[in-house]
This record gives sequence, structure tokens and C-alpha cells, in this order.
Amino acid sequence: MKAALYKGPRDVEIIDKPKPVPGPGQAVVKVVYVGICGTDVHSYMHPGIISPPTIFGHETVGTIDSLGEGVTGFKVGDRVAVGPPGNCGECHNCLSGRSSICIHGFPLTTGITPNTDGGYAEYMLVRNPKKMCIPVPAGMSMEEAVLFDVMGTSFHGIRYSRFKMGDSVAVLGTGPIGFSAMMLLKLGGASKVIALVRSEEKAKLSLEYGADIAIDITKVQGEALVEKVRSLTGGKGVDVSYECAGGAEPTQTCLSVTRSGGQVLLIGMSPEPLGVRTAFYGPTEIDLQITFVYDAAEIAMIFDFLASGKLPQAKKMVTDIIGMNDVVTKGLERLSKKNDQIKILLAPNGPNGKV
Ligand SMILES: [Zn+2]
Ligand SMILES: [Zn+2]
Repeated sequence: MKAALYKGPRDVEIIDKPKPVPGPGQAVVKVVYVGICGTDVHSYMHPGIISPPTIFGHETVGTIDSLGEGVTGFKVGDRVAVGPPGNCGECHNCLSGRSSICIHGFPLTTGITPNTDGGYAEYMLVRNPKKMCIPVPAGMSMEEAVLFDVMGTSFHGIRYSRFKMGDSVAVLGTGPIGFSAMMLLKLGGASKVIALVRSEEKAKLSLEYGADIAIDITKVQGEALVEKVRSLTGGKGVDVSYECAGGAEPTQTCLSVTRSGGQVLLIGMSPEPLGVRTAFYGPTEIDLQITFVYDAAEIAMIFDFLASGKLPQAKKMVTDIIGMNDVVTKGLERLSKKNDQIKILLAPNGPNGKV
């Protein structure tokens, strides 16, 4: 079978390797789609994030191809998502019911270490299908199901925040995490979803994804931005803001538009130091929290929303579907530069591998 092997920064090779065979308790999944994630792109660009040699891919959907001895609850042909982030079930955080922040979780997640090959391949071995395979409900497309990782990340961030129905919120970031946050906050009863965007095009898209108003922060900045947001929120600033872009400047912007006593959630990831100014004579006593992952129960909840038609815009986030031979040029390399894509899917078995 074909697989895309990450050998180091800017070095990904399409290789031939034997199709995996499931051992007792394991499963092999035929990959339909795998999302090309920002984590993959960051690892492709910078050393020290994912260790080579690894087959990327932690946002995978496919069908059960074969089952090892003793696996119950699945049959060949079942449609599944392969996630969530791995967890050991034994550390302090797992035992406290917070498996999303398992101390050992990152290396147990598919596509993150050499031991847990991911979905950038025609087939992938799932070592623990009971934990790692989530059924995809009937009536829901695989193009929607594959969004579980980006939507789960935003969903968990919102659930983790102090957001309550009726709150005003700001979302900065117009990638899949930002747009998912806008959709979910609108669904969750935000009184006002304010999108902070960097172009007219993104302003228009934000309104389609659930924002009530979009402010172009390349044009409205500093005091003018603070005043504008306050004028939209009864003079106080938003209750909660969600930073979904990553970096110092977006974090500073979120702090400036949030009310005193409010909260800023950092969902965007950035390798650069935050370096925020705290003495800006604006709002104070703002909680700044970092969140990143999600758990299996949250994927199932997202699937309920999608399968029942509550998030009809979600599938529009898929802006391109590519084949294995294009994984570098039309996938990783393209996303490492300025681009107009939201979510690119890799279809390792070809676009006709749809089910
Ligand atoms: Zn991801
Ligand atoms: Zn754990």
C-alpha cells in the first residue's frame, strides 16, 4: 500500500509498505479521508514537534477493513472516525475524568509518533479500536465526519470556557478552528458573535459561519477597535473571546476587546512566545486560558449536531480534496505559505474511495 512518510522538515516521501494486519484486539481501517492539520503543517516546517519517521494523520475517517481476534462492537465495512487524542486511562488527569489532558496523550495519538502511524496511508492499524474508533452516524457524509478534529477542538474550548447562553463573544481566526467556534457559539446561544477578521472576503465568510458582525482588524485597530466592540456590547467589551489564530498580536487584540472580569481562551497554537502587554490601562482581571484537545464523548456530540442538520455550513469548510501524489505540493507545502484554503482533505485511496 502507499503511505506518505514524514522523514524530517520539508521531507515527506510517498513509500510502498505492507498493508497492516490486525493483531488480537486491533483493527485495520481503510482510509477514506484524512484532514491535513495545522499540526502536520507545523511539523512539516519545523523540527521538534512530530518525530520522524512517522506517517502523519490524526483526523482520519474510513471503513473497518479487518478486525483482530476478540474485537467486539465493530464489523467489517463500518464507517468510523479514528480519534480522539490518545489517553492512557491511568494518569492523574485520566483518573480525574479529564482524558483530553492525559499526561501521556500526545505520543498515544495516531500520526504523532513513529509507533502510532496515522491516516496518510491507504490503510492504518488501530491498536485500540474500542478507544480510538468512533462510529459515524448514518446519513452523515464522510466529508462532514472528518471535521471532528477541528470542530472537537473548538467545541472543547467553548465547553471549557465560562461561556453561557446570552454571553457576547469575539472570535479571532478564520481557519477551521475559528469558523467552527463561530458556528458552535451561535448554536450555543451567544447573544452576539463578533468575528475579528483580516479581509473583506473573510468578513463575508464569517457571517456565513454564524458571526453576527465581522470587524476587519486591518482597518479598525487599537482604541478604535476597543470602542467599536464596546459599542456593540453595552459599553463593556465581550464576555469571552476565543483566540483561534495563534500568536502575540492576536492574543493582545483579544485581551483588548474582552470586558474586565471576562475570559480569553487561547485555542490557536503558535510556536512564538506570547509576549503580551498586561499594563495597557484597559480591562483587568481577565482569565487567560489555554486549551487544545477534546475527548471521545465530544466527538460523539459533534456527530449528533452534524447528523441532525444543526450545523449545515460545516461541510463548506472542506475547500479541496487531493490524492496521495499531491500531498506535498497541493497539501503541506501549499498550506505552509499564504493560501486561501480552509480545510484540505487527503483521499489516500483516491476521491472515489467515498462511502
Ligand atoms: Zn488536527
Ligand atoms: Zn492519562
